[in-house]
Amino acid sequence: MQEKYDLIVIGSGPGGYVAAIKAAKLGMKTAVIESREIGGTCLNRGCIPTKTLMHSSHLYSMAKDLDDFGITYSELSYNLNAIQDRKDEIVARIRKGIEGLLEANNVTIYGGKATIIEEHKIICEHSQGKELLETRNILIATGSKPVIPKIPGVNLENVITSDELLSQRDRLYQKLIIIGGGVIGIEMATFYREMGSEVTIIEAMDRILPNMDKEISQSLSMNLKKKGIQIHTKARVVGISEAENGTLLCEYEEKDRIKSTSAEGILLAIGRKANTEGLFADDFSLIMDGVSIKVNDKFQTSVESIYAIGDVIKGKQLAHAASAQGIAAVEHMHNRKTSVCLEVIPSCIYTRPEVAVVGMTQEEAKLQGFHIKIGKYPMLGNSKTLLSAGDRGFIKVVCDQETDRILGAQLLCERATDIIGEFATAMANGLTYQNLAKVVRPHPTFEEAITEAVEDIEGMAIHLMPKRGSWR
Ligand code: NAD
Repeated sequence: MQEKYDLIVIGSGPGGYVAAIKAAKLGMKTAVIESREIGGTCLNRGCIPTKTLMHSSHLYSMAKDLDDFGITYSELSYNLNAIQDRKDEIVARIRKGIEGLLEANNVTIYGGKATIIEEHKIICEHSQGKELLETRNILIATGSKPVIPKIPGVNLENVITSDELLSQRDRLYQKLIIIGGGVIGIEMATFYREMGSEVTIIEAMDRILPNMDKEISQSLSMNLKKKGIQIHTKARVVGISEAENGTLLCEYEEKDRIKSTSAEGILLAIGRKANTEGLFADDFSLIMDGVSIKVNDKFQTSVESIYAIGDVIKGKQLAHAASAQGIAAVEHMHNRKTSVCLEVIPSCIYTRPEVAVVGMTQEEAKLQGFHIKIGKYPMLGNSKTLLSAGDRGFIKVVCDQETDRILGAQLLCERATDIIGEFATAMANGLTYQNLAKVVRPHPTFEEAITEAVEDIEGMAIHLMPKRGSWR
C-alpha cells in the first residue's frame, strides 16, 4: 500500500533533519529522503570534517611553540591517516546520533533520490526500484554544491573542490593555490598552513572576505600573511595548465599584468550554488530566483504546500540558518507562530583567532540610515588572551544612537565563535548596550572583553587607556 505522509523532507542536512524531527515532535507523520549520507554537506563534507581537521592543525601548529609555555619534547610529527581516521570517526558518531534521533522520533528514512512529480507526489528511486510517495507537504532541503569556474584547465587532475580536499589521505599538498578568499578558502588555507604547507590565495575582489566588516577582513589578512600565507587580491585566474615537473601552473591577472605561480594542488573555493539537479520531473517546475528556488517569508515556494529552506534558496549559506528556517517552515505548516528569530544569524570562521559576526557592520548600519555609536576593545588587554598566548584581535559593537539597541558585533578573538552567542541573544531580544554592561562576567575569561567593549561606547572601559585629549 502507498504510504501517505504529512511531510516529506528532501535532504537530511542540518536544514532537513532538524525540520523532520521538529515536524515529528509536533505530531506530523514525517519521512526524509536522502540520496547520500544522513547529515548532508555540513556533517559529511563541510563544517564538521573541516573543523575536526582544523582542530588537529591548530594543535600541531601550537605544539611547535610549546617551548614558550615551558614544555619541551623531542620530536613532533603528524600522521595524515590517523588525522583522517579521527575525522571519519567523529563524523560517523554524529551521523549515528542523527539517525538514532530520526528513528526515535518515528521519522521514516528513505535512502534514495527524490523527484517531485506533482504537488503532493514524489518518486523515490532507490536500490530496489522506484517508489511513489504521497504527502500533504514537501520541504526541499537539498543544499548546494561547489561552483566550478569557467577557467581553462579546471578539469585537470589535482584541481579540486573542498569535497575532495577533505578526504585526501595519500598526501597533503606541500604547495597549494586556493582560488577564492571566502570562508572556505580562508579555512582551508589555515589548515594547510598550520600543517606546514605553502599556501597562496587568489581573490578577485579588493580584499579577502569581501562581504565582511572591513576591519575584520584587513586584520585577518594581516594575520594570515604573518603566518606565511600569500594573498593576492584584485587578481583573476585566467588559466591552469600542467607544468613540466608534474605540478600545476596557475596564471592570473593582477594589476593589469599576467603573473603565474605553481603548486601541487589547486582548490576551487569561489562559492556554492543551489542543488536542484533531478529534483523536478520534466513536466513539473517551481518559480526560480536565478539558480535558487524562490520562496516567500514563510519559506513557501510558488506551490504553497511545497517549502524550501537552506542553501537551495537565496541567503546566507549556513547550517544554523538552514536549521532555523526548517523550524520556521514546519511551524508555519502546523499553523504556529515562528519561535526563532530569523533576522539574527551569526557567521563564524574557524581561523586562529576565530572570527564571528552578527548583525550590521558600522558601514551597513550607516547605509541603512542609522546614527550609530561604536565600542571597541583590543584583546591584548584581556588577561585570558595573554595567558593563553592568543593573537591580536578585538571585539567591536555597533549600537543605535537613538534606542541604544545592539545593531551588530564583530569579533576577532579566541573563542569568538562561542562568545558571539551573547550578542545574538542581545539582538534577538532587542537588548541595549546598557543591558549587556549590567552582566557580571567571570574572570579571567575572553567574555570579559564584552563588558569592556560595551563600556567603551561611553568611554568608560576600565581596562582601556583614556583616549588622548579626553578629560578623563
Ligand atoms: P564565498 O562566497 O564565501 O567566497 C568565494 C570567494 O571567491 C569570494 O570572496 C569571491 O570574491 C571569490 N571569487 C569568486 N570568483 C573568483 C575568481 N574567479 N577568482 C578569484 N576569486 C573569486 O564562498 P566559499 O568560500 O566557497 O563558501 C561557500 C559557502 O559556504 C559560503 O556561503 C560560506 O558562508 C559557506 N561556508 C561557511 C563556513 C562557516 O560558516 N564557517 C565554512 C565554509 C563554508
